[in-house]
Amino acid sequence: LLNILIIGNGQCGNRILDSINRHALGGGKSCGKLARFYSTQRFKSHVETLALNTAINDLKEMKFTKAKDRIHIEHLHGVGANRNVGKQVFEEKKEIIMRQIEDRGNFDMAFVITSASGGTGSSFTPLLVKEMKKRYNYPVYCLVVLPFREEGTLYLQNTAFSIQEIRQNGADGIILADNQYLKNIGGSIQEAYDGINDMIAERILFLLDALDSEMMMVTDLGDFQTVMSGGAGLATMGFFRADKEIPIKTAIQNSLSPSSLLFSTDVYEEASRAMIVIKGDRKYLSIDDISTEIEKLSGAVGHVFKGIIVRSGEYPQVLSVLTLETAREMENLYSVAVQAINQEKAKKQRVEEGSKMEKAFSQIEGMEPEY
Ligand code: GDP
Repeated sequence: LLNILIIGNGQCGNRILDSINRHALGGGKSCGKLARFYSTQRFKSHVETLALNTAINDLKEMKFTKAKDRIHIEHLHGVGANRNVGKQVFEEKKEIIMRQIEDRGNFDMAFVITSASGGTGSSFTPLLVKEMKKRYNYPVYCLVVLPFREEGTLYLQNTAFSIQEIRQNGADGIILADNQYLKNIGGSIQEAYDGINDMIAERILFLLDALDSEMMMVTDLGDFQTVMSGGAGLATMGFFRADKEIPIKTAIQNSLSPSSLLFSTDVYEEASRAMIVIKGDRKYLSIDDISTEIEKLSGAVGHVFKGIIVRSGEYPQVLSVLTLETAREMENLYSVAVQAINQEKAKKQRVEEGSKMEKAFSQIEGMEPEY
């Protein structure tokens, strides 16, 4: 039985955590608000969840996360997308935050979920990772959500710095999820968020289930750690659930296709290590077909761990975890972020020049017109 800690920081992190708790409580979309009082978690592993935020309203919005797991880190007006303020708040409240983790016992692994671009999550997460790595010896993985590219210069520069700091502060791996490429889920922005959050929740819960299951062909926490330590420290996850009988090869390919991945990449080009976990009724799982398809991937990628979980009566489901050697989309994002930083710098200069204007105006302060 694995002990797992999942932390959601800031609004985006809180919402994804809430989606994980909803799925874990067996909740589809119709699952009622009271479910958490009546149902027991479906987690096989022992999972503790913790939501941190400076904005109390974001915490209040959560429906499936216990009140005792929603921690308000007080700061007068939130942090307003300013990472310097966010970092200062974290340092001031560090012991309160760490006590919450301490109280929840010891773990085999932790996930920290956040957006890269906002204020609270993007500034708390790197510092939290640093503190956790200093105090505990279990792996800490981050799941980081990238912004829509049109969300503006501040969000872009926050993204560039926060991801860099998460890497530098010792995270054992960063799983990327990209709003930009997942937004074609459609509907309103809220529906898109909900859809993306559900995709992430589904993948994380499948992963936890897989790491703690009796398998016909085994992958375990050690394999996951090996996969995550490969490449450039960045990873993505794909998932496919068949709703009818389909060839297992197709199900595996589908889990690796761009529309199944949380972050856009050509896995055959950019991946460095992979783990593929297949679940379903034995009659759908031809070992020969599975091996052929996996060999195709390992031929391009390098090492691929595979796991098979037999669940009678279920159509095939496939989860893929891939670390990336290169990530073209990330390179693009960093060059856009550099432009954004320069734009902000130029704006600041203009404002400083504007203060010459202030001087000009202030020359007549205290004077009266003479006629
Ligand atoms: P914080 O509360 O200050 O950490 O800031 P947010 O978490 O709101 O960060 C803003 C970023 O998160 C923007 O890029 C939003 O697009 C994204 N975001 C906010 N809420 C959600 C959500 O529920 N799901 C997803 N996928 N992204 C979100």
